[in-house]
Amino acid sequence: MATGKINVSVENIFPLIKKFLYSDHEIFLRELISNATDATLKLKHLTSVGDAKVAYGDPIIEVKVDKDGKKIHILDQGVGMTEEEVKKYINEVAFSGAEEFLDKYKDAGKDAGIIGHFGLGFYSAFMVADKVDIITKSFKDEPSVHWSCDGSPEFTIKKGKKESQGTEIVLHIAEDSTEFLEENRISELLRKYNKFMPIPIKFGTRTETLPKPEGAKEEDPAPTEEVDNFINNPNPAWTKQPAKLKDEDYKDFYRELYPMQFEEPLFNIHLNVDYPFNLTGILYFPKLSNDLNIQKDRIQLYQNQVFVTDNVEGIVPEFLTMLRGVIDSPDIPLNVSRSYLQADGAVKKISSYITRKVADKLNSIFKKDREDFEKKWNDIKIVIEYGMLSEDKFFEKADKFALYPTVDDTYYTFEELQEKIKDNQTDKDEKLVVLYASDKEAQHSYIEAAKAKGYEVLLMDSPIVSHLMQKLETSKENLSFARVDADHIDNLIKKEDTQISKLSDEEKEKLKANLEEVIENKSYTIQLEAMDSNASPFIITEPEFMRRMKEMQQSGGGGGMFGMGNMPEMYNIIVNTNHELVGEILNTRTAKKRERLINQSIDLARLSKGLLKGEELTRFIQRSYEMVK
Ligand code: ADP
Ligand code: MG
Repeated sequence: MATGKINVSVENIFPLIKKFLYSDHEIFLRELISNATDATLKLKHLTSVGDAKVAYGDPIIEVKVDKDGKKIHILDQGVGMTEEEVKKYINEVAFSGAEEFLDKYKDAGKDAGIIGHFGLGFYSAFMVADKVDIITKSFKDEPSVHWSCDGSPEFTIKKGKKESQGTEIVLHIAEDSTEFLEENRISELLRKYNKFMPIPIKFGTRTETLPKPEGAKEEDPAPTEEVDNFINNPNPAWTKQPAKLKDEDYKDFYRELYPMQFEEPLFNIHLNVDYPFNLTGILYFPKLSNDLNIQKDRIQLYQNQVFVTDNVEGIVPEFLTMLRGVIDSPDIPLNVSRSYLQADGAVKKISSYITRKVADKLNSIFKKDREDFEKKWNDIKIVIEYGMLSEDKFFEKADKFALYPTVDDTYYTFEELQEKIKDNQTDKDEKLVVLYASDKEAQHSYIEAAKAKGYEVLLMDSPIVSHLMQKLETSKENLSFARVDADHIDNLIKKEDTQISKLSDEEKEKLKANLEEVIENKSYTIQLEAMDSNASPFIITEPEFMRRMKEMQQSGGGGGMFGMGNMPEMYNIIVNTNHELVGEILNTRTAKKRERLINQSIDLARLSKGLLKGEELTRFIQRSYEMVK
């Protein structure tokens, strides 16, 4: 038996390993299974090129928990190691890897996330074990080796008793890590990190119900059998060629990824590149509501089928973090901090590749089956609108397929909309005015007024729509959006032919004074307008600019003025001086009757805008009953 001392300068590296990776102790299992997988895949390669005499067969990896003996065993049937290799790869390489890792990230230990995920490799075993054995036999014709280390830099190495090639790692679990002796805990870890690893992983057995033999009676219990319990799917859908997969396969894989999710995804995007970087994966568009707080972090990041994290911030463009699915790339540097990751050139390329791919896929669905795309629009628009706002490249592409539905459910692309409305909705300054509503019910009377003029009214109801309109207005020429209740309809799209006022300037002065006497609410600004005598006599409007700035502030992001989010709402009362009722108010002699007419009219206008509530509404109703009596 040989003993030796691991050649490192940091004598107390084990306490360091424990300390720095405290929150991530559980990764030891993933690291050891990764090594077992690597060793098995190496053997596969060697046998396939004829460099190994042994047969590859159907190797598996096995994890065993020995609760009484306080041990965990990880066994593989891979290449194994000779004594020389143990000395080299375990004593020198693995250990120096651990040392280097700690050296580099000592100061970054607080950076949560990917740090601590990769890089420690074999030595992460010492986070949970106070003694580790390696019993290994190389596929080469050499005796097996038993290496043992109790956590100090001292180790022993002797002849082993292993007959077949492969490696067994035995972890003698430390007192503070006994949670890992619970079968459930190990099951959970295997599910989390190893669900899609490429070599079958066995963990215990499970009971399988067999079909009843012929002639069995109704009441006879079905026979059962104990079978090996394999925890992983070694060939997940994303590793296959897209051409080999059917729609149903993608849906099955979605269910495998999110077993608790009952809603089917709307569509999927299979990512598959090997140059200039390597990336595979499948992204799914789930049904999304208008709620901006939808659950993010549902995309899982893998490195060669090993789960790394479900925080893909910085790798996937922000607007796509609302999607689901998996991304697998060996080219993403994992043992680095987030800020480094975001600056990394390869990661940037990956991010823009994903953006482009998503845009192309949406475009092809749009072209292939427009009807279907329209049906899905309301469930996906938030992602697309968000993408248009945040990524210019995406904006350019999405401009061709982004849809603008009207209140009557006609879906236009921007170009189609432009074509449709340009004759009727270009104002006297050559500006194209796009009218929209955010709520069909609440803005009903305003929508009707616009329709009466033959105008199209869009329904724009997602929470970031004010930002999007701002973006469209600045990136296209001579375009402005106006909500139907932003002003009265003749002002929203100003044409040359202005109405002639029936009232003289003097009468207008008097009318305004009358109104101001009665209307006490200071947030209403009175605005006299000569309109069509058939238009409403009183209309409450909410100027576009102020309202939109306020909305933009509330939904976050730039564009807003400082403090606008807290501003009170501002309304205008448009008084149609050509309306008969307005003339009547002006000509009423008794102040009491005039006051009643004004109050009743203003309340009707507020009612139409949904602003009449509480006590004021009660009073309005009482007053109205009095009047109908
Ligand atoms: P890495 O896996 O990144 O190379 P590790 O510290 O995990 O670093 O492992 C160090 C080396 O030890 C591996 O590169 C490999 O040569 C060897 N090794 C570890 N586990 C096994 C195993 N189960 N079978 C064969 N070789 C192994
Ligand atoms: Mg490793």
